[in-house]
Amino acid sequence: MNVLFQKLHGMNETMEKLSSKDLMNLEDRYGAHNYHPLGVVIARGEGVHVWDVEGKKYYDFLSAYSAVNQGHCHPRIVEAMIDQAKTLTLTSRAFYNDALGPYEKYVTEYFNYDKVLPMNTGAEAVETAIKLCRKWGYEKKGVDENEAKIVVCENNFHGRTTTIISFSNDPDANKNFGPYTPGFIRIPYDDIDSLANALNDDNVVGFLVEPIQGEAGVFVPSEGYLSKAKELCEAANVLFIADEVQTGIARTGKLLAVEHENVKPDILILGKALSGGAYPVSAVLANDDIMLVIKPGQHGSTFGGNPVAAKVAIAALEVVRDEELAENAERLGQLFRAEMQKIIDQTDLVVKVRGKGLLNAIIVNDTPDSDTAWNLCLALKQNGLLAKPTHGNIIRFAPPLVMNEEQLLDCVDIIRRTISEFKK
Ligand SMILES: *Cc1c(COP(=O)(O)O)cnc(C)c1O
Repeated sequence: MNVLFQKLHGMNETMEKLSSKDLMNLEDRYGAHNYHPLGVVIARGEGVHVWDVEGKKYYDFLSAYSAVNQGHCHPRIVEAMIDQAKTLTLTSRAFYNDALGPYEKYVTEYFNYDKVLPMNTGAEAVETAIKLCRKWGYEKKGVDENEAKIVVCENNFHGRTTTIISFSNDPDANKNFGPYTPGFIRIPYDDIDSLANALNDDNVVGFLVEPIQGEAGVFVPSEGYLSKAKELCEAANVLFIADEVQTGIARTGKLLAVEHENVKPDILILGKALSGGAYPVSAVLANDDIMLVIKPGQHGSTFGGNPVAAKVAIAALEVVRDEELAENAERLGQLFRAEMQKIIDQTDLVVKVRGKGLLNAIIVNDTPDSDTAWNLCLALKQNGLLAKPTHGNIIRFAPPLVMNEEQLLDCVDIIRRTISEFKK
């Protein structure tokens, strides 16, 4: 009988703890292979730090893809979750619950919209926005049934459902998952002429866009792109839909990334840090003229708007405001990019840093299909900092926003040392 089996079933009298290697083997053996994780097994998190099973401490520079903006296990968020979990966890929307109404009031006032539609994951919220936009198109704009089109961007990432991957151009995301949902037009990102051209069609009802393309490699569009896009949408009576699942909730130095250009989306999609990473909570926000086209029975989710989610989201948003996380992200982001630029000036290994607030990426000087960025991440891990490549030669750096300046400079040191010691 193998050792792992004995440990698992408590047959080993000493009940030896499972090692990182044991745990990775378990995932490999029993889990679907739909991810390729970096070889670290995290057992505990607090603030900007995580610890692996063997007790080694790391700075988290991914923050669960910007879900943990408020830091790991924020006491206020955890407390809200535990209190509510002991009281009432789920009613479904078949009945009212005493936590949802106050949350809906709080979140709509926080983001300045009339209404919210609560869901759980980012992809579900994007799906919700698509349904809402189409229905608005038929019932308010007067588009003929089944003719509505939504404009999306090349290299988008909006989640993993069948409809969403239908308009992705990433072969990993969509190959052999067809047939695809029709009704989407894909145009180049950060190309205002292409948008103007695409909007020249009365059947277009929405423009779905990430204010910064996170998964694609932290692509920041040209200044003025988002405000001009909003203007064009307004002129064409087309809804501007912002997917702020990754960029929202203070990540880019403002509460929302669209605020950098004073844009107010017609439909706002939030997820990830809406719960501070404690729980799956997502939301779609819009004003009454749009949101009220959805009537009872026409959309929903068993867990959407559950009491735990409601309490967790309020606490997570309070933390963002009370701890001034947007301001901190803006200030530390400036410092981080300046420090990265100094490193870039002294190495051939990294050619560029880009980003806003604490959503940044460095471009490694190698081809996208090389493993240099991956190996650099392994070296960073060795030196106590966790990050992951996104699309080959790009490494995203997105620490929790509760980081302080001293910690950030410590991280800059780790990155500088790792890059200077790195051998391809
Ligand atoms: C992560 C992400 C999603 C999907 O969120 P899930 O919770 O993983 O479904 C959608 N849009 C953007 C921009 C994201 O970063």
